[in-house]
Amino acid sequence: MLDTNVEGVEQTVSTGRLPARGSVDAVVAEAYERNRGSSDGAVADYIPVLAEVDPELFGICVAEVDGAVHDAGDSTVEFSIQSISKAFVYALVCEEFGHAEVGERVGVNNTGLAFNSVVAIELNDGHPMNPMVNAGAIATTALMPGTTSAEKWEHIRTGLSAFAGRNLELDGVVYRSEAETNQRNQAIARLLQSYGRITEDPLEIVDIYTRQCALRVSAHDLAVMGATLADGGVNPVTRERVVSAEVCRDTLAVLATNGLYERSGEWLFEIGLPGKSGVAGGIVTIAPGKGAIGTFSPRLDRAGNSVRGQRATAYLSRTLGLNIFASSSAGNANNEEQP
Ligand code: GLU
Repeated sequence: MLDTNVEGVEQTVSTGRLPARGSVDAVVAEAYERNRGSSDGAVADYIPVLAEVDPELFGICVAEVDGAVHDAGDSTVEFSIQSISKAFVYALVCEEFGHAEVGERVGVNNTGLAFNSVVAIELNDGHPMNPMVNAGAIATTALMPGTTSAEKWEHIRTGLSAFAGRNLELDGVVYRSEAETNQRNQAIARLLQSYGRITEDPLEIVDIYTRQCALRVSAHDLAVMGATLADGGVNPVTRERVVSAEVCRDTLAVLATNGLYERSGEWLFEIGLPGKSGVAGGIVTIAPGKGAIGTFSPRLDRAGNSVRGQRATAYLSRTLGLNIFASSSAGNANNEEQP
């Protein structure tokens, strides 16, 4: 890892606020109206049961760090969290092991390859590279506290439930459908074992990983989960502290570089916020210190990101002023006419 020589230096935090509530409601409604008619993209089918979803479903939710929540469309319809679980399980593991150890063991750099790439593992001498690809997520799940699989699983389920502020449940149909077809993830776990990267039973770890991906959430849940990461680790609705502010900062950095599969660079360029998507059609996007956006729409682009979800999020980022790279001049230019 890079030695930045800032250990022990206090972290200063500086963020802004979202616009007044009425205008956030109107902007969320407009993000929904602008995109509801689009049918671009295709529903995921490599997990067989996902292909059976109604492709027209479309929900948006914005949750603010003060607990205000703004919903539009099918924002309470549940779907499987899939890869979005990686972000929150990573945060829980960081809470247990800390910045340096997880940074070293799982990594934070982009692979530039597909989320389930075996080649990426081989190219990096068995290092999983980052927690948002399957190798890194399986390694992260293995690190979850618990001496038995049942304990690890319960820790994940209750941890993600604390982020959501309600009891999340397993979608047994999605779990079984993926468990019958996840030979590739089993191979990835075996490969990590062969490199000494996991010491637990690889098939048991893949089983827990498959369960975490099958937890049922809604766009509303994703917004609250994301807002917990935006609020320094405190769930703004239940007011429960779930993880530390340092863990949120580290998790969001990883999402910024790896959250949208091989399109993470394009996402940051267009939207300017950390986010994470999943193949069932969910996306969570976090505006640090302000709040978070949850979207659900099952049709995906080729990288596996929801098309309407990306467009709605781009609109919200732009109109709510969320892009973390955007600035306007303080007005001191000496080569421009003053109004
Ligand atoms: N459970 C899926 C897998 O591991 C997650 C896919 C995704 O959302 O990227 O293949």
